[in-house]
Amino acid sequence: MAASEHVVEKAGNAKIVARSDVVVVGGGPAGFSAALAARREGMSVTLIERYAYLGGLASGGMVLVLDDMSNGPEVTVTGICMEMIERMAKVGACVFPPPEDRRTDWEAYHRWARWGVFDFRAQTKPQPILMAAAFDPDGWKRMSNEMIEEAGVNVRLHSWFSKAIVEDGRIKGVICETKAGREAIMGDVIIDTSGDLDVAAAAGAQFTHGSFIVTTVFRLGGVDTDATERFSQQEPEKYAEIDRQAKRVMGGSWDFWWLKTPLPGIVWCNCPHMAGYDALKVDDLTRADFEGRKKIYALVDYVRQHMPGFEKCYVVDVAPQLGVRQTRLLEGDYVVTKDDVLDRVHFADTVARGRDYYTPYRAMLPKGIEGLLVAGRHYSATETAQKMSREIPPCMSMGQSAGVAAALAIKGDGLLRHVSAVEICARVRAQGGDPGDIPSANAKIAETLA
Ligand SMILES: Cc1cc2nc3c(=O)[nH]c(=O)nc-3n(C[C@H](O)[C@H](O)[C@H](O)COP(=O)(O)OP(=O)(O)OC[C@H]3O[C@@H](n4cnc5c(N)ncnc54)[C@H](O)[C@@H]3O)c2cc1C
Repeated sequence: MAASEHVVEKAGNAKIVARSDVVVVGGGPAGFSAALAARREGMSVTLIERYAYLGGLASGGMVLVLDDMSNGPEVTVTGICMEMIERMAKVGACVFPPPEDRRTDWEAYHRWARWGVFDFRAQTKPQPILMAAAFDPDGWKRMSNEMIEEAGVNVRLHSWFSKAIVEDGRIKGVICETKAGREAIMGDVIIDTSGDLDVAAAAGAQFTHGSFIVTTVFRLGGVDTDATERFSQQEPEKYAEIDRQAKRVMGGSWDFWWLKTPLPGIVWCNCPHMAGYDALKVDDLTRADFEGRKKIYALVDYVRQHMPGFEKCYVVDVAPQLGVRQTRLLEGDYVVTKDDVLDRVHFADTVARGRDYYTPYRAMLPKGIEGLLVAGRHYSATETAQKMSREIPPCMSMGQSAGVAAALAIKGDGLLRHVSAVEICARVRAQGGDPGDIPSANAKIAETLA
């Protein structure tokens, strides 16, 4: 069949399976935080997720370091993100440097760098050790289940969002494809945390189509990390040559392609990176999965033969989800730019933050649609700005603020644009979050609400 041919579908009925004040679509870091935050403000909440677990890229994508959450010694992302870190740490599923080790010297660097908790943007060596957290993907799934259950959120896994129900410019609910057929979930406010802007795009919001490298993340077991670290410190040039060759074999990675995890002998490999794929296309997603797996096994063959400590390594698992960094990006009431991030612009309507940059409430509001909020990696930013501000902690900070904003709108006149950013920040603070005070030095303040 020619690619341009279409089948016309008849409109059908979808059974209404849930109604709640707030409906969150996407159970990744942003959605999990939004659902909890709205529930804590007294809302009934339904959280929809297509896969069999919560966590999105953090668990299913096996993205196993929470970073971009501190600015030098200041921990800038707290709230639900920090609760998750503390919960996982209590059951041995999370490791982070204690305050006395967050410093810049070779001793701290040698102890902590292989956990991925250094300032990866710093140009100097050694890079500073910061508050960041290495965690176990099943630890995330387990703790998010616990927290969501304790809070009384109505979770619907195995539900793939497919359609937005929009009437007179207001979103009223969503339709999901499930094993039981099409199901409708109705809500007063819908929060799109799908990462790919599925809901807002379906509802008619404006967006840009961004793209970035994709990665088939995996873990290796049977690694003697002490032996590899000793080798890298005692024979740095030999290590560097083998490391360079390993990167050539796999065809793309950051500087550190393997990092320690809370499980002894198991390392996290945030690679191989692959370019030229559009993560909204089935063909591209399929080819990327096939290509990534081939590269992983080529790398394993190489390091087994050449890298001290990796002689007996084996693949523990390849992440069940392809690592997708960027697809659709909202063009909301305000679009955050690269300069906003670099200049650390603090907006009059700042409601969330990451390392040292801020998110205005307007960047969560799709133009022309009422009742819909957007939080997470598809928020309203330019492609370049998103690449610098999309880590898990800032997405959780956005999610928490979106959940609070939804509750404030429902308690008010129902209109999201009537909610005050100051009130959002006050409620986020009351929940233990920290959207950031107006910075005193070195940051530009955006004065007006355009
Ligand atoms: C390879 C890689 C490495 C990275 N490294 C780091 C790192 O070291 N540290 C860091 O902090 N960040 C890192 N990031 C960035 C970070 O993982 C993401 O930006 C972050 O997870 C975004 O969170 P989110 O909740 O917005 O989206 P996601 O994590 O993508 O979650 C979206 C959720 O929505 C669900 N969903 C999507 N569509 C639908 C639908 N139609 N119906 C129902 N559910 C749906 C998904 O299944 C998922 O659960 C990395 C990303 C990648 C890909």
